[in-house]
Amino acid sequence: MFFGSKKPLYAILVITYLIFTIFAAKNYYLGHKALAISLLLFVVLASIDTFAIGKGKALPINLNIVVSALVLSLYLSLYYLGVGIIYWIYPISIALIYLLSLRAALLFNLALFVIGCGFSISNMDAFSAFRVSLSLLITILMSSLIEIHINMLHQNLADESVRDPMTGALNRRQLSTYLDASLANKKRNHVNSAILMFDIDHFKQINDNFGHDVGDKVIKEIVAIIDQNSREVDMLFRVGGEEFILLMNDIEILDAHNFAEKLRKIIEASRIIENHPITVSVGISKPFQNLSSNTWMKNADIALYEAKTSGRNQVRIHASNDS
Ligand code: GH3
Ligand code: MG
Ligand code: MG
Repeated sequence: MFFGSKKPLYAILVITYLIFTIFAAKNYYLGHKALAISLLLFVVLASIDTFAIGKGKALPINLNIVVSALVLSLYLSLYYLGVGIIYWIYPISIALIYLLSLRAALLFNLALFVIGCGFSISNMDAFSAFRVSLSLLITILMSSLIEIHINMLHQNLADESVRDPMTGALNRRQLSTYLDASLANKKRNHVNSAILMFDIDHFKQINDNFGHDVGDKVIKEIVAIIDQNSREVDMLFRVGGEEFILLMNDIEILDAHNFAEKLRKIIEASRIIENHPITVSVGISKPFQNLSSNTWMKNADIALYEAKTSGRNQVRIHASNDS
């Protein structure tokens, strides 16, 4: 569903409901009572939802129910008033794509297409019926493609705001939210987790000896190695130039250590730069009661510092205890 700018949508809907109410009154007067009732039903259901949109609240009535009343009204209009009503299908078809999820919109549009084809074939000459059916099909396909395109742009924007563009790892802004969630999980459900802080060893030398582009390539390759070897639930964040945090949920500290050792060896054995082994140091820390996310990270940083001062290319666990 896409309610990007509420005010124009709100205005269009209110005008539409007024017009539909006039149609309902006119049809009641003409004796088309079923049509008048279905139109009024649609106006009432849709007005309730529109009011909720105006107030910024959740929709009280499922939009699929509102749209069902609209499609019923269209069907009855064609039945009572004749095939001239068929041109209402086009704006309704586009509105469905705008209002519903793509899947629901396609299902309702299929119903509209069947109704449109059925009425035009049985009430128009063959060529006119063909024109109506083809133009309706093109309208549905085009508006669906636009919706898919808008969804993709939305997804890209959402990704760009949370991910580091160079490596695709999550950016630092997301970190504390996820760390807090893991801490809460530990507190409530006693689920253990761990953070692994990675820093590439002697990275300045890589930049100095091979150039910044090769340095970038090394960073990307190391992210790829961590990514390929970690589990679906693990989350990788780029927290500095060549520093990363892997948040591992639902894991015991010794398993996290074994995993870090495995990664350290894979990175050491990888030949990202010919004849120049790349290594990483890793600091690990686990959460415990009443720990803040900042202290949790600081503990990993302390462990990483120990790994560096003990000669690099090592994994160290912070000596924190459960309390
Ligand atoms: P240590 O083993 O103690 O970690 O030594 P180091 O040389 O790796 O030191 P440090 O971790 O402080 O190195 C950070 C360097 O990373 C400094 C900076 O020039 C470089 N750097 C930071 N971001 C990027 C980047 O995006 N691309 C490249 N190529 N280099 C970067
Ligand atoms: Mg560093
Ligand atoms: Mg470094």
